[in-house]
Amino acid sequence: MKIAVVGTGYVGLVTGTCFAETGNEVTCVDIDSKKVERLSNGEITIYEPGLEKLFLRNLKENRLQFTTSLEDGIRDAKIVFLALPTPPGEDGSADLKYILGVSEEIGKLLKDYKVLVDKSTVPVGTAEKVKAAVRKNYSGEFDVVSNPEFLREGVAVDDFMKPDRVVIGTTSERGRKVMGDLYAPFVRSGNPVIYMDERSAELTKYAANSFLATKISFMNEIAQLCERVGADVDMVRLGIGSDDRIGKRFLFPGIGYGGSCFPKDVQALVKSSCEADYQFRILNAVMEVNEKQKLHLIPKIKKYFNDDLKGKHFALWGLAFKPNTDDIREAPALYIIEELLAAGATVSAFDPEAMKNVQQLLGDQIHFAENQYEALKGADALIIATEWNEFRTPDFLKIVTSMKNKTIFDGRNLFDVSAISELGFHYESVGRRSIS
Ligand code: NAD
Repeated sequence: MKIAVVGTGYVGLVTGTCFAETGNEVTCVDIDSKKVERLSNGEITIYEPGLEKLFLRNLKENRLQFTTSLEDGIRDAKIVFLALPTPPGEDGSADLKYILGVSEEIGKLLKDYKVLVDKSTVPVGTAEKVKAAVRKNYSGEFDVVSNPEFLREGVAVDDFMKPDRVVIGTTSERGRKVMGDLYAPFVRSGNPVIYMDERSAELTKYAANSFLATKISFMNEIAQLCERVGADVDMVRLGIGSDDRIGKRFLFPGIGYGGSCFPKDVQALVKSSCEADYQFRILNAVMEVNEKQKLHLIPKIKKYFNDDLKGKHFALWGLAFKPNTDDIREAPALYIIEELLAAGATVSAFDPEAMKNVQQLLGDQIHFAENQYEALKGADALIIATEWNEFRTPDFLKIVTSMKNKTIFDGRNLFDVSAISELGFHYESVGRRSIS
């Protein structure tokens, strides 16, 4: 099948590459000409495990192409995916200007039947708006399908190639058939393709992300309580997670959720609910808890240094909003850095993949270390903000010899409290006892 993917970011590039991998001919369209040039030259623009190999293979086989021209991109395509940004507008609702702008342009270019697919996360009713935007300039046949994407950055290729489920929102038989054929190779092991109407599909994506964000904020509140009553959140987590109805996953407390999806999607669902004259009370609390949790370590750090961080030097491990990605959108580490710098401290940071992105944002406001141990040199304390695997079992002797103080503030509960206490560290984490 010939496919166009408009928007070649985290979702678009994975979508385009994975569809090419199953034999389709894919053209990815992006307005960013530098990105298109780099991709056309075989240079991958995001860090996503396993993606580069697939990308290079399909580029070489000419199944994957890149262009800045929407006209060239969609000319021969039977299916046109929209993988465009839907950032929060000023009032928190999803801004549809990219989606509707491109849809209107597509309307000017259409000459025959195509299926337009919303892969972006969009509020209920967007498929109808896309239809209307296309209709402004095109009176022929076309379908609009809602096909929300559930991939997780860091394991996006696996998630795409072997999805837990594929949601296809359409009331058109023709659209349903085209989408079913396209996804057939991805669900051979029996995972479901769930067909529904467009509105239900659109809401499914927001409901999924908001439910996951709720799980995180719930555990973070349990962690808060643990710290106050002397319980251990790890024990509580194990205790509740073994109940099938609750499940073991997504129960880890920490310094809040970040990234380009949860914060904006929870906010957008609250906003959509308001517009439908419904107060989504739980989600307001989820956001409030997360706002506080991002800075959970700051009061602990200030207390430890008697409220005086001026001249103190911090090592920071982890900048990405989660491990295995270079994505720093809404990363808790950025909020921590801002607080530390505002209090007069200095920061030396290390992240295996996200340093370039933070450097573009912060320039020389902080020091970027060569490796995790160099970041520790002369540090008064180490702060851990992202649970990269390489931070889990570090060389503690190296840590001790590099740092000024044996002090760790761990926002991701990487270390065993008893083990670290034996090594003589001052150690504070989330929802567990502190060690001095
Ligand atoms: P992104 O910012 O990484 O990529 C968007 C791309 O669209 C950019 O390359 C940008 O240059 C391009 N673009 C902007 N305007 C354009 C235009 N007019 N024509 C062509 N290209 C244009 O965004 P993303 O993370 O890939 O997210 C895209 C959508 O998918 C969002 O709605 C997001 O909520 C949703 N989503 C994201 C994830 C994720 O993990 N990142 C997962 C599921 C769903």
